[in-house]
Amino acid sequence: MPIEIPAVVIDRLPTYARALNLLEARGRDVVSSQELGQLLGVTPAQIRKDLSYFGRFGKQGRGYNVRHLAQELRQILGLDRQWSMILIGVGHLGQAILAYDGFRPQGFIIVDAFDVDPAKVGQQIGGLTVRDLSELSEYLEKRRVDIGIVAVPAAAAGHIIAQLVAGGVRSILNYAPTTVPVPEGLQIKHIDPVLALQSMTFYLKGE
Ligand code: NAD
Repeated sequence: MPIEIPAVVIDRLPTYARALNLLEARGRDVVSSQELGQLLGVTPAQIRKDLSYFGRFGKQGRGYNVRHLAQELRQILGLDRQWSMILIGVGHLGQAILAYDGFRPQGFIIVDAFDVDPAKVGQQIGGLTVRDLSELSEYLEKRRVDIGIVAVPAAAAGHIIAQLVAGGVRSILNYAPTTVPVPEGLQIKHIDPVLALQSMTFYLKGE
């Protein structure tokens, strides 16, 4: 049976990949787990343990070959290909997401956007013609969508997520402040700055 890789390990890999890409761009050949750990604020032992799930990289005392490890991580994470995404909710946040130029260079392509507001449907926003949400189910029957981005009000998010899941979308990036259970085998990531702020105020309140 293959070893189960803890989700926290997978969550750390993109930060390793980013640091290695940066070092590669700077022309670095070799990096030690100590230096990588310092750059990322994790212990060298953690890095070695995390990477050990995927094979043997680097030699004792000689560090990692930056180009090789960067390439391996890109392959492990599926960063060496393009992923198609759709956006649901073209409001303030949705429009900022469409305007963000950081997705495409990393292989994340927003191919279509949906909304319920008749004033937005049919409009060109962020280079896309906004589609009516009522088209979503049929759209998903015809096209492969890897990732759904949810930027609708919290009250609408559960229904939208269920529709995406029913349409075969297996990964969801949810910006709405709500938690929705999804079936096993599916990935959902919640981006909620309020929760992040609230966990910081735990430390602030004692000052
Ligand atoms: P907004 O009101 O400007 O936009 C919401 C959009 O969703 C509107 O265009 C509306 O027509 C559309 N919509 C409503 N119901 C829909 C449905 N059933 N299907 C499709 N579209 C629908 O709100 P906003 O400020 O863009 O915020 C959007 C969501 O993101 C909210 O849940 C908000 O709490 C959250 N938010 C998250 C962050 C973050 O950083 N994570 C920041 C701001 C807002």
